[in-house]
Amino acid sequence: MGKNLIELKNLTKSYNGVTAVDSINMTIREKEFVTLLGPSGCGKTTTLRMIGGFEDPDDGEILFEGRLLNNDPPYKRNINTVFQRYALFPHLNVFENVAFGLRIKKKSNEEIRLKVEKMLKMVDLEGFDKRNVDSLSGGQQQRVAIARALVNEPKLLLLDEPLGALDLKLRKEMQLELLDMQRSVGITFIYVTHDQEEALTMSDTIVVMNKGIIQQIGTPQDIYNEPVNRFVADFIGESNIIEANMIEDFRVHFDGSDFDCIDKGFRPDEPVDVVIRPEDIYLHSNPADGKIQGTVVSVVFKGVHYEMLIDDGNREYMVHNTTMFPVGSSVGMNVMPADIQVMKRKEEEPCEEE
Ligand code: ADP
Ligand code: MG
Repeated sequence: MGKNLIELKNLTKSYNGVTAVDSINMTIREKEFVTLLGPSGCGKTTTLRMIGGFEDPDDGEILFEGRLLNNDPPYKRNINTVFQRYALFPHLNVFENVAFGLRIKKKSNEEIRLKVEKMLKMVDLEGFDKRNVDSLSGGQQQRVAIARALVNEPKLLLLDEPLGALDLKLRKEMQLELLDMQRSVGITFIYVTHDQEEALTMSDTIVVMNKGIIQQIGTPQDIYNEPVNRFVADFIGESNIIEANMIEDFRVHFDGSDFDCIDKGFRPDEPVDVVIRPEDIYLHSNPADGKIQGTVVSVVFKGVHYEMLIDDGNREYMVHNTTMFPVGSSVGMNVMPADIQVMKRKEEEPCEEE
């Protein structure tokens, strides 16, 4: 990935006194695939619309290659947008839908033909040029929308839940196709979704937002393995989130035992939250082999693994394991120090269910 393409500085937007986007800061590099992830209403679309020029910020700056963009109208920005609803032109065929931006720019017929054909090939719609857009499936229509945006060769493509209207199987296919396209044309994507799995699959960088505030920016691995707070941990995947106390550096106390961990820098006895992923809990059929003892209270087969709830008298731990321990059995549980993620406790944590 290359140099900085776009910078947001203290970008802020309110509607009728309600803050939709609250002084956000981020830097996006050339060719980066960045995903804004968060529950509905957290400010993703508003952020995208400000970058695209469809909404004026109340405060803050948008820099594009170091130049202030705030006052440029959308058509002057080297940016295209793909919306959730494809917004194709129903009276134009596939070819003319894709050609639209080039016709506006008064390109020659020959150049238009070459570029549109190349794009249709890229989105796997070769030979569809004469088709009426109404005769296409949802996935094909969305590919036309993407081709129509890419043909303008924008430096930056904004995508607002572009696969949201598709069914699960098609969405999975399109995720991979989009990723392929992004890699092969080498343009920067800012992608909006409320689906954490989609974000983890596709992104170089994930920006987790809640209530207009950025909670964490990081790689999918960072966000998954080292969530900075309870909101991120909860939103990004199934987790055991446990109230604990940090005894000293590298030592944390919960459920009646002290555990070695790899975190430091907390006050002695500071209240913290601990995250343990369900797949990071090891089960032993002999309870004495585990640091924590519990009883299996439910088992669900999930295809690759079993999901079990195990009650240790303090809480129910969610555990994923390829071996099934039947309901009622006593088991021991262990966790490796590196799999105990200690987070700062914030009492007024914004923790809103969708
Ligand atoms: P997201 O895309 O993450 O679901 P939005 O950016 O659409 O969130 O919305 C953020 C907040 O701003 C929400 O509370 C929403 O109701 C509010 N909002 C968005 N657009 C408008 C608007 N045009 N007028 C009034 N409120 C709006
Ligand atoms: Mg939205």
